[in-house]
Amino acid sequence: MEHIENSEEFGGLVVNSGVVQPPSVNPYMQKRPRRKPMPTASELVEGILRGDVTMLSRGVTLIESLQPAHQALAQEVIEKCLPYSGNSRRIGITGVPGAGKSTSIDVFGLHVLKDGGKLAVLAIDPSSERTRGSILGDKTRMEKLSTHPGAFIRPSPSAGSLGGVARKTRETIVLCEAAGYNNIFVETVGVGQSETAVHSMVDFFLLIQLAGTGDELQGIKRGIMEMADGIVINKADGDNIGPAQLAQAQFRSALHLFPPTVSGWMPEVLTYSGYYELGIPEVWDMIDRYFAFVKANGYFEERRNRQARYWMYETIDEQLRNHFYRNPEVQELLQANEAEVLANRRTSFMAARQVLDHYFKTLREK
Ligand code: GDP
Repeated sequence: MEHIENSEEFGGLVVNSGVVQPPSVNPYMQKRPRRKPMPTASELVEGILRGDVTMLSRGVTLIESLQPAHQALAQEVIEKCLPYSGNSRRIGITGVPGAGKSTSIDVFGLHVLKDGGKLAVLAIDPSSERTRGSILGDKTRMEKLSTHPGAFIRPSPSAGSLGGVARKTRETIVLCEAAGYNNIFVETVGVGQSETAVHSMVDFFLLIQLAGTGDELQGIKRGIMEMADGIVINKADGDNIGPAQLAQAQFRSALHLFPPTVSGWMPEVLTYSGYYELGIPEVWDMIDRYFAFVKANGYFEERRNRQARYWMYETIDEQLRNHFYRNPEVQELLQANEAEVLANRRTSFMAARQVLDHYFKTLREK
């Protein structure tokens, strides 16, 4: 068709008729093989024990899946891997955003991999929105580590209850250990309950702090400090060396006020710089000393046993709670009783009794 712009008025301009657009779907796409079928539990276990990273990743994806069939398969894989697990150093790393966790994990990681072995970096971050970002971030934030053949970096399972996210990370540890990862880092953002969750699955809990933020010894941090087996003050470089040393002294004296730890280990306080890689071997010497200490006095085993017991009851609690609250009759009764309680017509205790009695009755009738 003749184009209007080919008229005299637009002299000098020639508009050619266009070419036919190619189809937007690549016709060869269909010929590509479909996604590989799900391996069986034995295939997964065999792959994991061989140290096959693809199989390990698929196993972890199963652990994270919400589909009941996947969960069942995941549990089978975990049980089969369990006898091969446990042979690692599990280290929890926490610190507020900006404390330098990723920078530090990058250099700590390379430090532990220097002597061979393998390292898995896992995370617990129940705040969903951040999760994707931070984890996508992890690959880039931990630049050196992410290209190291001995490192396996896995983001936090995506949002759910903290208990659920933590359980998945704990199960992922089992698979990683079965795959031969003898160093496990579990990172968490130091802003809430997630430290307790991480603390309940690691052998050593490292708290990264900064000098001069003013909140070192206050409020919520105190609980976290009490959990720490080691406190390290990052960014001890340049003008910040003085303040970092001052903070070190403050932390040391604060720790003396805490009751003695169950392990008998006195938490140490060190300064270092993740960015300029200063004081890194000293931090790892401390961790080595800790492991030697708790392995010698039996606390290492004791802590792991206590954690295993904790997770058993934690899982029971979670499942009982879910079973109860997801029951439609319970939901209805809860709503009705809540209204009665708020209207001052029934005591909280009686309302709870009524709902529970009904729940137990339906259980007996089943
Ligand atoms: P995260 O949020 O705890 O993971 O912290 P990042 O590792 O992302 O670090 C936060 C910022 O602090 C980044 O801009 C880093 O470059 C900087 N940083 C980390 N470690 C050091 C250090 O040892 N010294 C200095 N001066 N800056 C650091």
